[in-house]
Amino acid sequence: YAKKKQGDTIQIFNNALLNAFKDNSQIERDLQTALRGREFELYYQPLKDLQKKAYIGAEALIRWHHPKKGVLYPGAFIDIAEQTGMINAIGSWVLEAACRQLNLWQHHKIDISMHVNVSARQFFSGNLYEQVWQLVTRYRLKPGTLILEITETELMEDIKNATKLCQELSELGVGLAIDDFGTGYSSMRYLKQFPISKLKIDRSFISDLTISRESREIVSAIIAMASALNISLTAEGVETQEQESFLSDHKCHQAQGFLYSPALRESEFSRFLFQAEPELIH
Ligand code: C2E
Ligand code: MG
Ligand code: MG
Ligand code: MG
Repeated sequence: YAKKKQGDTIQIFNNALLNAFKDNSQIERDLQTALRGREFELYYQPLKDLQKKAYIGAEALIRWHHPKKGVLYPGAFIDIAEQTGMINAIGSWVLEAACRQLNLWQHHKIDISMHVNVSARQFFSGNLYEQVWQLVTRYRLKPGTLILEITETELMEDIKNATKLCQELSELGVGLAIDDFGTGYSSMRYLKQFPISKLKIDRSFISDLTISRESREIVSAIIAMASALNISLTAEGVETQEQESFLSDHKCHQAQGFLYSPALRESEFSRFLFQAEPELIH
């Protein structure tokens, strides 16, 4: 048929779509293989208490050792896992692995909390509470040491269920942190309604701290609000001493970022903790 310019564009567009589709279904198959083949690993990034000047927690961040593509970060596969529903199986694995590790730390008297990212689909799956209950029981996790992280936009997807689930989790001694705080459709009203134990200020505000007066005002206001509501606060993405000083001067509780360490595999994480605070490890 006649080769029109417009037709070419459509053809190219279709090919792109087709490739994207093939890619996704290939990734979906790869994800299943990865779960079976133990290609996932949790890395841990330390959280520092700015008042105590000590490491008091870790955030578990998933990494995929892909046989062909090398180490993949969550940005490359979590969205697809969400879309295909694979996130439930992956999320269960993450929770189990994080709780098993937390139990080991507690066994070795390493007194830190564990933050675990949970996606909306996993949060509202209907069996999250049951699963967390089993893990907390099986691993005898100390109350307050397991904290689930979810973004505010995801939490707001189903406010009624979220309120109930947050309540049940908090009765179980499991904390809930709002991740990437300040980037979603946040509503101050819900902060009162949900039993939230923690906010994590999104790193976009932190990276702008030294150059933007607005970001400094926003961060100061979030710190004041969290402290008034008695909610613990972590600043994400702290990369410079200046940023830490600002946060520490304004009485932000905790900080996390490349200034201290990126996420590390467990053996390196333990070594990091030991070098930073030998007294933490008995
Ligand atoms: P997040 O929960 O907000 O995690 C923080 C992300 O910021 C991590 O990226 C971390 O490596 C990165 N980061 C930490 N400090 C700094 C810093 O100082 N500067 C910069 N530029 N980045 C920093 P990562 O590991 O690539 O994870 C990205 C996102 O993927 C996470 O964002 C989280 O939403 C999601 N994710 C990670 N692991 C899991 C998981 O096990 N399950 C689910 N559902 N989502 C996960
Ligand atoms: Mg997080
Ligand atoms: Mg996030
Ligand atoms: Mg975040």
